[in-house]
Amino acid sequence: MFSIRIALSILREGARDVSNSVFQIPTPPTIPIVGSAAVFPPYRIFCVGRNYEAHAREMGFEPDRKAPFYFVKSVHDIVLSGATIPYPPGTSNFQYEMELVVALGKAAFEISALEAKDCIYGYACGLDMTRRDLQIIYREKQRPWDLGKDFENSAAISSITPVEQFSLTGEENIKLSVNGVTKQLAQLASLIWSVPELISDLSRFYHLVPGDLLYTGTPEGVGPVLVGDHLLGSVDGLEPVKLTISGPS
Ligand code: MN
Repeated sequence: MFSIRIALSILREGARDVSNSVFQIPTPPTIPIVGSAAVFPPYRIFCVGRNYEAHAREMGFEPDRKAPFYFVKSVHDIVLSGATIPYPPGTSNFQYEMELVVALGKAAFEISALEAKDCIYGYACGLDMTRRDLQIIYREKQRPWDLGKDFENSAAISSITPVEQFSLTGEENIKLSVNGVTKQLAQLASLIWSVPELISDLSRFYHLVPGDLLYTGTPEGVGPVLVGDHLLGSVDGLEPVKLTISGPS
């Protein structure tokens, strides 16, 4: 029953039709673009850890500017705004992290922060959904966080607003509410590492390409979600991201 439903949903989303493949595999969803019929094809997802001081403290760390650090999610984790997602397996502490997402439109390798601005295609609202219990267990064992961060439906994203329609000033509020109650509220100016600094730094480690997405970290106020919760994340000037949590499947 479960596998049939998965198979049907894969076919609906468009399977790769390569006649000599031994089987078909799912393709990641494309992301709508504000004011356009075209869509954004996601290639990779990079995420930044502890990029707001107050969030670093609530996770038990002193914020610093030694160097940003990253983790990745699979593009197959993407879920578009408006979706209802099942409470994921393996956790009893599923949490939201509201984030500004940067979508790259140009290749970038070993570029400066000044050059990085030209590589930005647009911005979106994202939720870095996290199995916090697993993240902390593996963090304490000094093992990779993947089970806590990289799993199905863990990368929610709104439609992307191109830079022609939105310029980031830092004065924008980033906000998340659960069932209408505000849980996270900060200004983008309080990012420890700015968007151009992050792209510049990341470009020292990867040959960045159009389609790459960067989740820029979450402000303070992260917390758990429960079955039935409605999440609404916003950044002034961008399309909001909405997510509903249903029972496990
Ligand atoms: Mn995060």
